[in-house]
Amino acid sequence: MQKGKINVQTENIFPVIKKFLYSDHEIFLRELISNATDATEKMKALVRSGESSIELGDLTIKVKLDKEAKTLSIIDRGIGMSAEEIDKYINQIAFSSAEEFVEKFKDVDNTNIIGHFGLGFYSAFMVAENVELISKTYKKGKGTKAVKWECDGSPEYTIEELESRDRGTEIILHISEESKEFLEESRIKTILDKYCKFLPVEIEFGEETSFEEIEGKKDKDGNPETEEVKKPRIINNTDPLWKKSPADLKTEDYNKFYRELYPMQMEDPLFHIHLNVDYPFNLTGILYFPKVKKNIEPARDKIQLYSNQVFITDNVENIVPEFLTLLHGVIDSPDIPLNVSRSYLQSDHNVSKISKHISKKVSDKLVELFKSDRKSYEEKWDDIKVFIQYGILSDDKFYERTKDIVLLKNTEGEYFTTEEYKEKIKADQTNKEENIIMLYANNEESQYSYIEKAKARNYDVLVMDGPLDNHYVDLMERKLEKSKFTRVDAESIDKLIEKEDAQVSKLTEDQQKDLKPVFEKGLNEKEYTVQFESLSETEDAVMITQPEFMRRMKDMQAMGGGGQMAFMGDMPDMYNVVVNSNHPMVSALVEDNDEAHKETIANQLIDLAKLSQNLLKGKELSEFVKRSMEIIK
Ligand code: ADP
Repeated sequence: MQKGKINVQTENIFPVIKKFLYSDHEIFLRELISNATDATEKMKALVRSGESSIELGDLTIKVKLDKEAKTLSIIDRGIGMSAEEIDKYINQIAFSSAEEFVEKFKDVDNTNIIGHFGLGFYSAFMVAENVELISKTYKKGKGTKAVKWECDGSPEYTIEELESRDRGTEIILHISEESKEFLEESRIKTILDKYCKFLPVEIEFGEETSFEEIEGKKDKDGNPETEEVKKPRIINNTDPLWKKSPADLKTEDYNKFYRELYPMQMEDPLFHIHLNVDYPFNLTGILYFPKVKKNIEPARDKIQLYSNQVFITDNVENIVPEFLTLLHGVIDSPDIPLNVSRSYLQSDHNVSKISKHISKKVSDKLVELFKSDRKSYEEKWDDIKVFIQYGILSDDKFYERTKDIVLLKNTEGEYFTTEEYKEKIKADQTNKEENIIMLYANNEESQYSYIEKAKARNYDVLVMDGPLDNHYVDLMERKLEKSKFTRVDAESIDKLIEKEDAQVSKLTEDQQKDLKPVFEKGLNEKEYTVQFESLSETEDAVMITQPEFMRRMKDMQAMGGGGQMAFMGDMPDMYNVVVNSNHPMVSALVEDNDEAHKETIANQLIDLAKLSQNLLKGKELSEFVKRSMEIIK
């Protein structure tokens, strides 16, 4: 046996490894299995290229747990290492990269930053007090005997030759007391499922039981008898869908894979995008459109990032644009630098190229869907609307690419592109300033009477009840020329789309001045402003509107925007009480000399108007009911 000392600059990296990588101890297994996979893939490549004529045999990587001995072993049949190679790769290269890593991060306080940085072979010392590495190279000849390297976490190691051993490498971890969780089968199984689910080489861990028919044996009912069979359990799918050619796959295959990725997800995805790029960077993957509906608080862990089929993270913040995190799926790219910090990722050239590419692919797919099957696109619209609006609001390029396929839905359930819609309403809904007025409701039920009034005028009303519609309306007004959005209850119907100069009022200014206090009595003046308008006689005598501008200010404040307004405290809702000065009942009030009667009628008219805005509640409502009874009497 030979002893050696790892050439150390940092006095001892092992305590540092243990201390500073606290948050993510479990990655040791990913690192060791990745190494085993690489060694196996190299072996396959050597045989394929004819450089080696060795019999490959079974290449399964085995993970074995021995609770008694307190060991966890990872065994591969890859290329293996000779004594010389162990000295070079493990004592020198692996060690110096681990040392460099520790140097870089030992002053970093925030342990979870360290999350997903590969540390390689030496990460074994996060959980093991002693590591044995037994290896035999595939090469033949002098210096190719099997060797055993051993290290207890101090810079000293031993290395000795062994008599005989199969090709490949076995790493035996003697799990330390404080890491004994890694001696639990369920813990290891969970880690393997997380990081190794799609590795390209089969990984065996534990056993699974199945029931198989016994040949020739039948029970009394003539059914075949079965017996319990235990088989080694393979934990991974070595040939995940994203690596296959889209031409060979059907929607069912994609949906089945979706289930494999998200066993808890009940609904099928709406559609998918198969990513496949090899220039100027390498990237494969599948993105799924889930049904987003009104939920824009997605669990931000639905896109899984892989590097050559090794799971890296499901936190893709800063790697893909935020709106894309509403999607589900996998992205696999060896070109995303994983051994660097997240803040670096943001500025990384490759990452931003990848991000742009994905965004483009997604918009291309949407345009293709729109063009190839408008009907099915419309059916999906309600589910993808939030996503598309999110994209449009956050990415100008995405807006440019998708602006012609954004749909508007009206209260009749019909869908239009923006251009189609402008064309449809142009004749009836252009105001005297030549602006096209798009009317919308954000609550079809509570704005019912306003919608009906608009329809009676041959106006069309859009449904804008999504969580991003407010922002979207703002953006569209900025982008579209000569177009405005107005909520159906923002003005009296005559003013909603002002056509020509208003009608002449039947009341003189003096008469209005006398009547105003009668209506104002009993109204909270912070919330309600009484104003007279000359509307047609057939319109309601009194109605309540909520001016578009004030309402948007309030919406903006509620969403935390609006700068200075944030300091103004909560804004109340502000309404206009519009009194129709041409309505016969209003004219009658002017003539009425019974002050009490006048007040009752004014109150009643206001309450009726409040009722159709859903504003009459509690005490006011019960007073209204009482007053109505009196009037009927
Ligand atoms: P990395 O894998 O990033 O190169 P590691 O510290 O994990 O760094 O490993 C260092 C080197 O040791 C590897 O590049 C490889 O040459 C060798 N090695 C590690 N594990 C194995 C293994 N199971 N079989 C063969 N060689 C291995």
